[in-house]
Amino acid sequence: MRKKTDGGHAIPEEDLREMEQEEGREMPEGVESQTGYCRFCGQGGVVHTMMGWGQDEVNEAVTCRCQCEEAKKYAESKERVQKAKSRIEELFSSTAEKPIDQSVVNIMFRAVDAIEEKAMKGITIEVGQGIKARVSKMAKESIKVERSEVQKKTYEE
Ligand SMILES: [Zn+2]
Repeated sequence: MRKKTDGGHAIPEEDLREMEQEEGREMPEGVESQTGYCRFCGQGGVVHTMMGWGQDEVNEAVTCRCQCEEAKKYAESKERVQKAKSRIEELFSSTAEKPIDQSVVNIMFRAVDAIEEKAMKGITIEVGQGIKARVSKMAKESIKVERSEVQKKTYEE
């Protein structure tokens, strides 16, 4: 049994089945294949995205995967920032064991951006109640996030 394609070429049934399976594997439901371009060198690439991604998001994903120098630097920088911010969330935000005010957490997020932009080296925040928050640049460009807490003993006898 053979099926005809539009071009009139006969494709063996088993090849057709293989092609269909291939497609099924690549495109699970809700996922689509989109083409984007590296922001730095312009090289195109295909990413599989969830439905509804805009071109900017697709370009961003392609850029982060591109192997050109600029894109690699950009991807590393982005990863550094994300790592530092998720560490801040872990240590200080509402999901932390002892959360601090979100407005202070936001200052720390801004500090991470400023450090990555080389606008400053670090910041230490006196949160109060003996809690100190520190964000600072380390050797090899990484960004360190620290939380320290001084146990103050009060005597009320
Ligand atoms: Zn590139």
